[in-house]
This record gives sequence, structure tokens and C-alpha cells, in this order.
Amino acid sequence: MSGKKRVLSGIRATGRLHLGNYLGAVKGMLSLQDNPDYETLYMIADLHTMTTPYDPEELRVNRREVVMDYLAAGLDPKRSIIFAQSDVPEHTELAFYFATVVSVARMQHLPTFKDKVKQYPKAVTMALLNYPILMAADILAYKAELVPVGVDQEPHLEIAREIARKMNQTYGTDFPEPQRFETSGGYVPSLVGEGKMSKSVEGSYVNLTDSLEEIKSKVAKIPTDSGQGSEISGGVKTLMEFVELFEGKEKRNEFENQYRDKGLRYGEIKSELSEAIFKELEPIQKRRVELEKDTKYIDKVIAEGAEKARKVAQETVLEVRQKMGLA
Ligand code: ATP
Ligand code: MG
Repeated sequence: MSGKKRVLSGIRATGRLHLGNYLGAVKGMLSLQDNPDYETLYMIADLHTMTTPYDPEELRVNRREVVMDYLAAGLDPKRSIIFAQSDVPEHTELAFYFATVVSVARMQHLPTFKDKVKQYPKAVTMALLNYPILMAADILAYKAELVPVGVDQEPHLEIAREIARKMNQTYGTDFPEPQRFETSGGYVPSLVGEGKMSKSVEGSYVNLTDSLEEIKSKVAKIPTDSGQGSEISGGVKTLMEFVELFEGKEKRNEFENQYRDKGLRYGEIKSELSEAIFKELEPIQKRRVELEKDTKYIDKVIAEGAEKARKVAQETVLEVRQKMGLA
């Protein structure tokens, strides 16, 4: 465990990973895994999956899907601890202790909470309200300092910092104030031209496992206009953001100038963009085909990861119990 700084991140088991998860989170996870100054812990956020309506059978499948996507993208169980959130019950225990220093009003006013309420108005549960507290516990169970996640998670990180401060002031713990580790794709827009790409929003995403044909048909659906005008907005802006992410800033500038000048031909642009996306995903897909053949290996990775993660989390929980008067 050495004096290395720790890194924690996770992805909900709500489906296969998409370009937003890859660019906003996994790329950062990979670069920190390669950095010898950090000890990296990456989880499948299966408990967070339960904060919105879900199907138990699908959850069982998706837990493995996320690990397969992780490994195919380059996460390595020899260099990172890969585990499932629910296999380390210390997270939920710590979340309860943390809940004692957070007000209900603070949770209700979070923009992330309001977004999910809008998405699932009939399923506003206590688990959903508690989401950010559990996330703080995920991070602080390991006293992690860096968290490679997308821009959408920033309000939750602020809560984690507030909890760390409050715990330190009140109970004399030494929790760090975790910071977001940024990547260039920290906010990947939805293909439908509104909001962010999300696993749980149908039509919004391109999965890492999509074929070139699937990518082409999804990209074709990005809403566009006549191809000419003075101001770029909506779906055209989304398209330009994807061009920048996969073909570079210069290409985007070139297209934006053409938009204001002689006009754009979206058919060609979308087809070229789809090829560029596929080129980035192809090596990941090849590795995934191999991993899919060996579900036993996937289960072994998660089981071993849980054991390693628990050792660290147990120390933190013991310390918190002592300082809070429970031991
Ligand atoms: P769900 O719709 O189930 O919430 P999601 O697509 O939002 O799924 P999460 O599992 O909530 O994915 O998030 C996993 C990681 O991916 C987080 O670090 C999150 O910040 C990041 N992420 C999610 N969507 C995007 C996006 N569109 N752009 C950049 N990062 C993203
Ligand atoms: Mg999400």
C-alpha cells in the first residue's frame, strides 16, 4: 500500500459503457493506472444502480458487462483493484455514519438529484436522495484524493469534500478533500441534441461495442439543419463537438467556417466521423470478444478485487467507529 496517493472511480451497472463513460471517466482511470505515484481502485457501482428503477436479472448481467468493458478498455487487475461496490459492505456502513453530518435540504437541492427526479418522477426514493453520501463513502473509504469522473459528477464531489471537512472538524478524522481528475472529454453530449450522453437515456449513446454500421446509423440521427447559418447550436453543435473529440480541433474549425460560408454536407461529415469513432473502438472490441468467452475469469477478478479493497475500507471504518464513539 506504500505511501501512494489513492484514486477511486466507478460506473453504474446500468448497461454497456458508451463514449461518454469512456472519454469522461475510463480514459482518466487508464492514465492514473499507468502512473506509479497512484494506487487505483475502480468499482462497478452496483449499489448506485439500485437508486433508479432496475431489473435484478439485468443487474446481474450488467455487473459483468461493466467489468468486461473495463478490461477491454485496458484496466488491468494486476495494476488496479477492480471490484463491485456491494462486495465491500464497509461502503454502506460508512455512508450511514456520513449521513449524520449532512442535511436533507442540501441533498434535495442538488442539480443531479433534480435531474434524476425529472427522469424518474415516480421513483424518488431515499436511496436516490442518499446517492451522493454513498459516493462520498466510496471515495473516502480509501481516503482517495483523485477521482476520474465526468463533469456531471462535480456536485457529488463537492458533497464528498464537505463531508470530509465536517468529519475532520467534528470527529478528528483525516479525510482528504477529493478532487476530480479531468480529461478532454469530460462532458460528451447526447446524440439527441439535448443533455449528456447517458446509459439510461435511449437514443443518446454510442456503446463501445457498437459496429461501424450501428455507429453510422446512430450518428446519422444527430439532428441537423440546412447546413448553413451564422450561429451553430443544438444538434449541429453536438456534431461539431464529436468532430473535435474524434478528429481534432482543426477539423472542427474548418467545418465551422464552412457552415458560415459555403455550407456543410452532413452526410459526408457524419460518415467520416463514424469511421473515426469506430477506429478508436475497434481494438477495445477485439479484446472484448476474447474476454466474453471467459466469464469465470471475470468473476475471479471481482472476487479478488473485493478482498483487496475490503482490507483498506475496514481500516477506515474501524477508525471512524472509534472516533464517533462506537468502539
Ligand atoms: P446512468 O444514465 O445510468 O446514470 P451514465 O451514462 O450517466 O449512466 P454513470 O454510470 O452514471 O453513467 O457514470 C459513470 C462515469 O461516466 C462517471 O464518471 C460519469 O461522470 C461519466 N459520464 C457519464 N456520462 C458522461 C458523459 N456524457 N460525458 C462524460 N462523462 C460521462
Ligand atoms: Mg449517471
